[in-house]
Amino acid sequence: MNSMPLFEWNKCRHEPLVVAGPCSVESRAQLVEVTGALCALPQVRLIRCGVWKPRSRPGGFEGLGEQALRWMAETKASAADDKRPRYACEVATPEHVEAVLRHGIDAVWIGARTTANPFMVQELAEALRGTGMSVMVKNAPSPDVRLWMGAIERCLKAGLDDVAAVHRGFDLFHNASFRNLPLWEVPIELRRSMPGLPILCDPSHIAGSREPLPSLSQMAMDLGFDGLMVETHPRPDEALTDADQQLTPAQLSGLISGLLLRQTDTEKADQELRLLRLQIDQADQELLRLLAVRLDVVQQIAEVKSQSNWAVFQPKRWEALLSNRLEAARGLGLCDDFVKELFEKIHAESVRVQEAMMEEKKNAGAQ
Ligand code: PEP
Ligand code: MN
Repeated sequence: MNSMPLFEWNKCRHEPLVVAGPCSVESRAQLVEVTGALCALPQVRLIRCGVWKPRSRPGGFEGLGEQALRWMAETKASAADDKRPRYACEVATPEHVEAVLRHGIDAVWIGARTTANPFMVQELAEALRGTGMSVMVKNAPSPDVRLWMGAIERCLKAGLDDVAAVHRGFDLFHNASFRNLPLWEVPIELRRSMPGLPILCDPSHIAGSREPLPSLSQMAMDLGFDGLMVETHPRPDEALTDADQQLTPAQLSGLISGLLLRQTDTEKADQELRLLRLQIDQADQELLRLLAVRLDVVQQIAEVKSQSNWAVFQPKRWEALLSNRLEAARGLGLCDDFVKELFEKIHAESVRVQEAMMEEKKNAGAQ
């Protein structure tokens, strides 16, 4: 495995960078076995190893800590120069950073729960300052792109220049199909705001199970992600953490070779279109949601008007509304005719709904 700054190096390649390895290091034998298998897969450039495990509730297996780091250092030391594995592990405190540096670990990642806490991210960035470490920043559990960007910016400001983002989905509410919802629009927004930043996808923590991993990975490739982080264990069913979502190295190899990589100009344009269309879908959903909010207010207005016997159509209010909307639209660079026509339609619907409600009330009163 090469020794250049990893994410920087990968930028000029046309292949996804794969980070793979066990959710947790569980024993020396498991580490050695998985390292051997993953070093045989040329696309795997970094082996992820959970050393301190952030469990939601105490009492489960919480990782082997420094013992695991010692095994990782020994495994590296015993490999031939050209076959030396590169390891990454999660750090959540400055003490973790010190331990990782003492044991010559190559890269670190900031986990989802830590990204949510800017105090802690700042402490980690300070601890990592000047180390030249490659750093991956997972998104926080909530879909707040600014929190994710903020953590990345804290790393960049600390002088770390080999930084990548990892999309691991969002912990919004219990969902039957995924452990964490992908909400692809969030990493797309990150890409739009920080175009040079490599983004990897962690389909394992999005899915929470094995079956959706190939399609999630393909989606990440189709959207132009730079690589994948996939949990891989020699015997997933026996894993002490995240047993349901880990792949064997052979399954990982199958997943990688099944990926369709879009290379030609047409395919690149296609990929760009997909990105833009996702943004259009998102904007349209927002438009529809706001129209429904507006209509809800219109119904409340109809209620008030009917109580005080006001006519539905109030010409003065309509004129003022239209001229205000046209002025706002001009400020946004929107075409007058289009906005006028749009608001006439919206207003007509509002009048229709109010009249229908009044009519209903009249009929109910007459009975
Ligand atoms: C992990 O990668 O093992 C992990 C705990 O992930 P996350 O921080 O995304 O929950
Ligand atoms: Mn895990």
